[in-house]
Amino acid sequence: MTKAVHPPEPFKIKMVEPLNIISEEQRKKALQDAGYNPFLLKSQNVYIDLLTDSGTGAMSDNQWAGIMLGDEAYAGSRNFYNICNAVKDIFNYNYVVPTHQGRGAEQVLFPLLVKQGQYVCSNFHFDTTKAHVELSGAIAKNFLIPEATDTATYHDFKGNFNIPALEAFIEEVGPENVAFFIMTVTNNSAGGQPVSMANMRELRRVADKYGKKIVIDSARFAENAMFIKKREAGYENASIKEIIREMFSYGDILTMSAKKDAIVNMGGMIAIKEDEEVFKGAQARCVPMEGFATYGGLSGRDMEALARGLYEGIQEDYLEYRLGQVKYLGDRLMEIGVPIQYPTGGHAVFVDAKKILPHIPGDQFPALSICNALYLASGVRAVEIGSFLLGRNPKTGKQEESPLELVRLTIPRRVYTQSHMDQIVEGFRKVMEQKDQLTGYTFDYEPPVLRHFLARLRPLDK
Ligand SMILES: *Cc1c(COP(=O)(O)O)cnc(C)c1O
Repeated sequence: MTKAVHPPEPFKIKMVEPLNIISEEQRKKALQDAGYNPFLLKSQNVYIDLLTDSGTGAMSDNQWAGIMLGDEAYAGSRNFYNICNAVKDIFNYNYVVPTHQGRGAEQVLFPLLVKQGQYVCSNFHFDTTKAHVELSGAIAKNFLIPEATDTATYHDFKGNFNIPALEAFIEEVGPENVAFFIMTVTNNSAGGQPVSMANMRELRRVADKYGKKIVIDSARFAENAMFIKKREAGYENASIKEIIREMFSYGDILTMSAKKDAIVNMGGMIAIKEDEEVFKGAQARCVPMEGFATYGGLSGRDMEALARGLYEGIQEDYLEYRLGQVKYLGDRLMEIGVPIQYPTGGHAVFVDAKKILPHIPGDQFPALSICNALYLASGVRAVEIGSFLLGRNPKTGKQEESPLELVRLTIPRRVYTQSHMDQIVEGFRKVMEQKDQLTGYTFDYEPPVLRHFLARLRPLDK
């Protein structure tokens, strides 16, 4: 293996936010007070926060300058038209409905596209996406490729939609029982893994064959485009914008959480290529749910930061740095023997906790055990993606067994430096030294729904 290399940052630091570094004793107390659930930690007790890359990025001087140019008109704000122009230029979509974040777009759009009891098919539904598919009366089905769950084996595009499985499913249930397709780029739930251009083209063929629409869930559209440039034959000399335009030519509608690749702290949208019917329907639903159709829950200044962020997120030198930083952390962790989902995706490194703690069964949450040990060792907050998140079977009440027990180290955009990455690795070095002493967890308090956000736990005896 070649030595890990951190990419050069294509920016310098103009403003700093001090970090609080508390002692290990204080961290012990803070974790106990939080019921051993990282979601309940106060952020002032966290040194490096890897809970999520959503809304946690650092805006640029150009975005902050745009904030001062907010046009706070209730209707027809010029900042809204700046978003429309950026969307036309980058994605070549004609219509925009702004929303307060990604799930706002989902709640406005999905009921327009489904009939009760139909299936919505995706490479993988993000959790809020699945929730809104179900709230609109449909059933969410995922079609991952088998390589996606094999963490140790390299594949260029682990995020791909399993097209043969999709076609077999459509033939089995009948095309009339399928509402539409959702292509998630990158595939968040499969580890931020990219989707290839060939796969997007292939989904278009299937959509045309059965007369279905494609919604592109595009939170990490730019990271996906950069992976295509780096890995897919024929795209090495294409510009990121050319790649994005081709990707979105295969879709009909996009939903976006702008808190990811558009590098804003809050914002989202629906954009529509040409279907005026859907556009009018989305505008009409936006008004009671998100706000008037030219602001959708966002202030004018937020919309300006978003319009500018769309351009900053597609700069090639930035994307080279972004994917390179995530890869650097993954490579360094592998150097010290930490098993990870390989190759690293666009926004996070996923650590395979099952392999580190084979003595802790899934229902005692091995990945949570590593998150807590990492916090105690180094003040780094990571997040469990495994059985704790998955929860119980709603019918039987039994804990479901997650196929993977993962610790997600999610990297905020333009926020942390190489030395922060090295601190995370040092934290893991300590965790690996004590791995045989780590124990599982059990509930003190288990909320009935979405338990991982508010649950309280305690460590089990050895
Ligand atoms: C974050 C995300 C969403 C939901 O967006 P919010 O802004 O958190 O509401 C939907 N889909 C994907 C793929 C995401 O990553």
